[in-house]
Amino acid sequence: MTTILRNGPDLESLDKRYLFHPFTALADHERTGPQVIVKGEGVWLEDAHGQRYLDGMAGLWCVNVGYGRPEIAEAIHRQALTLPYFHSFSSWATDTPILLAEKLIEMAPVPMSKVFFGQSGSDANDTQIKIVWYYNNARGKPQKKKIIARRRGYHGVTLASASLTGMPSLHSGFDLPLDFVRHTTPPYRLWEAEPGQSDADFVAKLARDLEDLILAEGPDTVGAVIMEPVMGAGGVIVPPKGYYPAIRAVLDRHDVLLIADEVISGFGRLGTMFGATAMEMQPDLISVAKGITSAYVPLSGCMVSEKVWRTIVDGQATLGVFGHGYTYSAHPLAAAAALANLDIIEKDGLVEQAGRRGAFMHERLAEAFADHPLVGDIRGHGLVGAVEFVAAKEPATRFEPSLKIAGRIVKAALAEGLITRALPHADTISFSPPFVISEDEIALMVSRARTAVDRVADELVR
Ligand code: PLP
Repeated sequence: MTTILRNGPDLESLDKRYLFHPFTALADHERTGPQVIVKGEGVWLEDAHGQRYLDGMAGLWCVNVGYGRPEIAEAIHRQALTLPYFHSFSSWATDTPILLAEKLIEMAPVPMSKVFFGQSGSDANDTQIKIVWYYNNARGKPQKKKIIARRRGYHGVTLASASLTGMPSLHSGFDLPLDFVRHTTPPYRLWEAEPGQSDADFVAKLARDLEDLILAEGPDTVGAVIMEPVMGAGGVIVPPKGYYPAIRAVLDRHDVLLIADEVISGFGRLGTMFGATAMEMQPDLISVAKGITSAYVPLSGCMVSEKVWRTIVDGQATLGVFGHGYTYSAHPLAAAAALANLDIIEKDGLVEQAGRRGAFMHERLAEAFADHPLVGDIRGHGLVGAVEFVAAKEPATRFEPSLKIAGRIVKAALAEGLITRALPHADTISFSPPFVISEDEIALMVSRARTAVDRVADELVR
């Protein structure tokens, strides 16, 4: 029988021997080993040595209602005893996912018609590509296959979703991106705007870049654009006001669908139930995952508008069955966790709380970092924030990448008992704590981050 060891060194040596840790320098990891987390409560985590950490990232932007919620654990337990699993292929269904689908359609930020359930944000975005392709095949426009994403966008790691992801480190070694994917300019003011450029001019430039790309590729070859309302892993990049209406106007001119990747922003992170509402986005398709269950059980969803849905239904006469679905699609345990999670969010007013705590967090971040010599930008929206570090402020100048500034700060923060995250291809650390974080805990999170930044700043002048 396997026993769970609570003893740190044993777990660490087993991990080093058996677990494949992607996104690490593998040879280093085999030497240094993992940090093994064994327990969570609220915003606090405990490792196998009994060391406590404030989780400033809600896991990976997902444990929104915090750790240790008995309501979710009990819902999973009840569902497992009643019906742990049956599939939802062909005409089969189970009860709990049906109720969740009804709830999601009622909650959607713009009218939506149907939901398809998967397991991860990556598979949701993969599925959206198949939906776009089937939709255009059904309309007799089979050449409209290209999908445009943004540089720095993060949409997952399957072959298709990694291709959408606009980060070279997720492409190299795998011959990606696949050839139907293109990338356009992100709304990243610090590095993409002209000095002193107004929001309106910056928005016009971004919309022009997208339209130029669509025209260069040929509008009859472009099926959809995928965008996160606020870009998360690529740098917590908040678009200027008017950005999505300008993007939507371009897409409407060229008969191109808009997919909102709400994997991080869905279910309250930006202080509204969906990021599309906060960012004035009018999508045709919406991907959700992470916060739908606060990560207690893996679950993703693709929401589909009536226009797309009806075309798919009508297209079956010529195209045949929509041949897609996973063994674990519409898993009853995940649906039970999601319903309990959404119930907590609604009953405890956690969306509004995320907005209020977010405002408090941005004030504390500004207080702690605005005058810091290493800080080039502080940004965010709702309960997600980021601090970007620069070698010089005027004009903004990047650090030499080999200095690995953000990685060093994250390590120094860990020594202070704070989990934050270094974002790839940006000297940026991010904050995305559970919505249940208190004001005192936010103040502690920011002060620990400040200590970590000062420690790395001291190393740099030495
Ligand atoms: N989309 C966004 C916006 C994400 O942030 C992520 C993960 O961080 C994904 C998609 C991929 O989700 P998953 O890791 O569940 O496959």
